[in-house]
Amino acid sequence: MGDTVKYMLDESRLPEAWYNLAADLPEPPAPVLHPGTGQPVGPDDLAPLFPMEVILQEVSTEQRIPIPEEVRDVYRQWRPTPLYRARRLERELDTPARIFYKYEGVSPTGSHKPNTAVAQAYYNAREGVKRIATETGAGQWGSSLAFAGALFGIEIDVYMVRVSYDQKPYRRALMEAFGARCVPSPSEETASGRAVLAEHPDSTGSLGIAISEAVEQAAGRDDTKYALGSVLNHVLLHQTVIGEEAIAQMDLAEAYPDVLIGCTGGGSNFSGLVFPFIGQKVRGGSDVRVIAVEPAACPSLTRGEFAYDFGDTGHLTPLVKMHTLGSTFVPPGFHAGGLRYHGMAPLVSHLHSLGVIEARAYHQTTVFEAGVRFARAEGILPAPEANHAVKAVIDEALRCKEEGSAETILFNLCGHGHFDMQAYIDYFSGALEDREYDAGELAMALAGLPAVAAVS
Ligand SMILES: *Cc1c(COP(=O)(O)O)cnc(C)c1O
Repeated sequence: MGDTVKYMLDESRLPEAWYNLAADLPEPPAPVLHPGTGQPVGPDDLAPLFPMEVILQEVSTEQRIPIPEEVRDVYRQWRPTPLYRARRLERELDTPARIFYKYEGVSPTGSHKPNTAVAQAYYNAREGVKRIATETGAGQWGSSLAFAGALFGIEIDVYMVRVSYDQKPYRRALMEAFGARCVPSPSEETASGRAVLAEHPDSTGSLGIAISEAVEQAAGRDDTKYALGSVLNHVLLHQTVIGEEAIAQMDLAEAYPDVLIGCTGGGSNFSGLVFPFIGQKVRGGSDVRVIAVEPAACPSLTRGEFAYDFGDTGHLTPLVKMHTLGSTFVPPGFHAGGLRYHGMAPLVSHLHSLGVIEARAYHQTTVFEAGVRFARAEGILPAPEANHAVKAVIDEALRCKEEGSAETILFNLCGHGHFDMQAYIDYFSGALEDREYDAGELAMALAGLPAVAAVS
């Protein structure tokens, strides 16, 4: 066998259904609560924000949810994505472990995000929605929804975190190329944005603030809905095409993972890979260790509280029970913009509390070092977010070497880093710092958790 080992699925093997882990959980996750009444929200409460089909998916307990043909047709442009064996990296690490990776960087915007953007745009278009408002951090989600909006004829308004808007002009240009409008957040366009600007005129923004702006637009306009690129159950559901394909590809490789690894911002690419495998385990299949990897500067799973909290800074969203750093927590600037959210997906948080998954956090210089090592061996430069997964993979492969244990490791290479070259320039010039979050600010943000946390 040569060094390039790639497992491809024929187009005919494109999954026909998404896998819904909620159907197989030993215990259901805590309900989403209305912040005013403290009662579980119903579909009608969410109707101003999301199309009904998406709301039904959010609460579904069906194990398999068919992927509409129109969505599969778009997926076919880049799916099934390749699964590679990282033989050159294995050799460079001199490890007995076998390392596999699923590569989502082949999508039109270079990450996993179009898997849900296309589905969400499709359901909105089918229900007659003309415009979607959303937020974006580094721009991966905004550009993916802009791409999907262009295909389904929906206007896309993106509130982009100010610091990224200024620092990442290429992602913004990509959104505009797809026809989206991109507004730096906080903006003067919304009450939430104006409130922040009144207090902090040069606010650099945060995902929590940008979400408030987008939600406010959607709630206040009949022709506009909202879309979120991570965290929520339906987003994680749409991402399971990754794991469904990976299961078939590991079969082709005649292997099964002992360890699954993914980076976690809101938890969607991680869930997309691991949920179908966890489902097999829960239904009596092989055991598998599952590791979520997050940045030490925004460590919701490893340092946050598992409590009810708002999804946004302006407190316009329902309350969800998740690992959170507090909705007012603003992480220090670091380069994996996609990992700068204060909360973690409720389903991922739930799995962590059940002991089904592990979590760990790394500082950014060590993850860039790992990413560059990977690039030199495998020829793909990972997105800064994906470097977190790569770092954990290398650590696990070195552990296998020490233990003389020939384990099989599979991870999600969720995107390439071609739009993030400034981060690599900073890394090579030694300008990348390991920023600590402000412990006082974290304590304050956690002290501000909504009162329902105490009674739940
Ligand atoms: C958005 C993004 C992330 C973080 O979001 P998840 O929902 O945790 O996947 C990670 N990697 C890339 C490449 C992203 O674009």
